[in-house]
Parts: sequence; C-alpha cells; structure tokens
Amino acid sequence: MTGTTTEPLTAADRCDRCNAQAYVRVLLPVGELLFCAHHAREHGPKLSEMATHVQDETDRLLAEHGAGAGAAR
Ligand SMILES: [Zn+2]
Repeated sequence: MTGTTTEPLTAADRCDRCNAQAYVRVLLPVGELLFCAHHAREHGPKLSEMATHVQDETDRLLAEHGAGAGAAR
C-alpha cells in the first residue's frame, strides 16, 4: 500500500479533459488524473499501463443515470 487515499468521487470532481463530472480517478507516480466516463474510455487503456491505481466508478454512473447516459459517447 502506498498510503494514497482514494475517496469516492463526488460531483465536485471534474474531468481533466472536458470538465464533466469525473467517474474515474487514475493515480500515477507523478499525480492523479480525473476523467469522465467518455474520456476514461478514450485514455484508459494507455493510462492504465502507467497508473499505480485506477479507481473506476463508471458503474455508479450507469446506476444513477441509466444505461443511456452512461453509454453515450
Ligand atoms: Zn471528459
């Protein structure tokens, strides 16, 4: 364990790319990035290679907004 806190993401957490609500937190050796479901899907595969931890809460997005909103690109 690194001691890094991975608190649940909230509405105040915003995607670093488009400022939408973030549902994925990617912890990197140099810091952390937040992504919405869309950008997590876009950058996730590449980032997960470098990430020390990926906190994926996109399941919560689907639960809150239904399959339509979460699946929209
Ligand atoms: Zn985004």
